[in-house]
Amino acid sequence: MSHNNAIQQQYERLGICKEVYAFGAKTEEKLKARFDALDRVTECNQLKVLHAMQQAKVSAECFQATNGYGYNDLGRDTLEAVYAACFCAEDALVRPQITCGTHALALALLSNLRPGDELLSPVGKPYDTLESVIGIRPAKGSLAEYGITYRQVDLLPDGSFDYEKIRAAVTKRTKLATIQRSKGYATRPTLSVARIGELVAFLKSVKPDIICMVDNCYGEFVEEKEPLEVGADLIVGSLIKNPGGGLAPIGGYLAGKKECVENAAYRLTSPGLGKEVGASLGVIQSFYQGLFLAPTVVNAALKGAIFAANIYETLGFDVLPNGSEDRHDIIQAVTFHNPNAMIAFCKGIQAAAPVDSYVTPEPWAMPGYDSEVIMAAGAFVQGSSIELSADGPIKPPHAVYFQGGLTWHHAKFGILMSLQKLYEQNLVNKDLMW
Ligand SMILES: *Cc1c(COP(=O)(O)O)cnc(C)c1O
Repeated sequence: MSHNNAIQQQYERLGICKEVYAFGAKTEEKLKARFDALDRVTECNQLKVLHAMQQAKVSAECFQATNGYGYNDLGRDTLEAVYAACFCAEDALVRPQITCGTHALALALLSNLRPGDELLSPVGKPYDTLESVIGIRPAKGSLAEYGITYRQVDLLPDGSFDYEKIRAAVTKRTKLATIQRSKGYATRPTLSVARIGELVAFLKSVKPDIICMVDNCYGEFVEEKEPLEVGADLIVGSLIKNPGGGLAPIGGYLAGKKECVENAAYRLTSPGLGKEVGASLGVIQSFYQGLFLAPTVVNAALKGAIFAANIYETLGFDVLPNGSEDRHDIIQAVTFHNPNAMIAFCKGIQAAAPVDSYVTPEPWAMPGYDSEVIMAAGAFVQGSSIELSADGPIKPPHAVYFQGGLTWHHAKFGILMSLQKLYEQNLVNKDLMW
């Protein structure tokens, strides 16, 4: 009891009232079994990372900063061996010179496709920023400019794969299929690794040499298996999301078939140079440490997402995924149907941050959006969405997407603070808290 009092006092000092605290405690109590199951996935993934680091013989020399061309960069080469082992890949490219997730995906596509090839997305519209990469939205340097065409097959209304249309869409020009694991900010369900395996098996049955690439953003370490273990050829992601563990200050990765990774390396640097150049400067140690912590950090983010789903579901809001379903990525959507409620939510997330907690997020016009957008993030790494963050467009249905949390207790506090703001403005039905 005295522990609880001490904890509650800390919450009170940070602005959480007794009622919100009690509702949070009651909600957390109900999630014990869920959280235990998550911890077992994390334990499995922690051991997987550890095994990969031991196998690759990570040593103190790996943490030396290199500069210039970066020939024989032991830290860089060993880290790539660690990623390959961890994700069951033949090879990996893990570089600070890959500036973000979109860059990593563009690199994978632009290096593995040639003029005349066709790209297929069998899972509907890809992540927004890929529209420019593909050329769905005309853009300089897009695949379309190089004469690489694109075809898309949407998921069926119930979220399942449209196998018939996918079969019909595969032609002799179809070189690569891009499969986005996370729903991102769309409303379709996120794909489990098992479902990705089914889709890959089907694609290979139609065309054995098709390259199956998975946009793995937000998915790493959520499950015990990763897409390469169920037949995918290439996975691609960002280091300021899950696998960077919140410590990597920049970077992206590709892992998979040797040839796919090599193609990407020759495009990232230069034909003839490939993986041999690219100094790691001073950031490589944070890549190792971030990967080492990533399973635990993803665990914290998942607990936060599940906690938020249960809090807001109980209060009568639509939440996606819902409070009880299995998770395949770290994103949580809450639909408020009320602009003031979504703004209050974001203000709470911001007020709970370790950095910039004193600033107030306001809705803002953003390039590429047809309505104002509100964003809350008080992160150590700019734009890092493995850190607790929330955003959404100010238009019906007034949904907020929120993700991340480097520690579970920070994620929990952020969600309680979001509720505190709604509570203070009478934007929740307080009767539902009892
Ligand atoms: C974040 C994300 C991207 C793009 O990554 P950036 O680092 O923002 O460029 C691509 N696909 C998915 C599914 C993502 O979540």
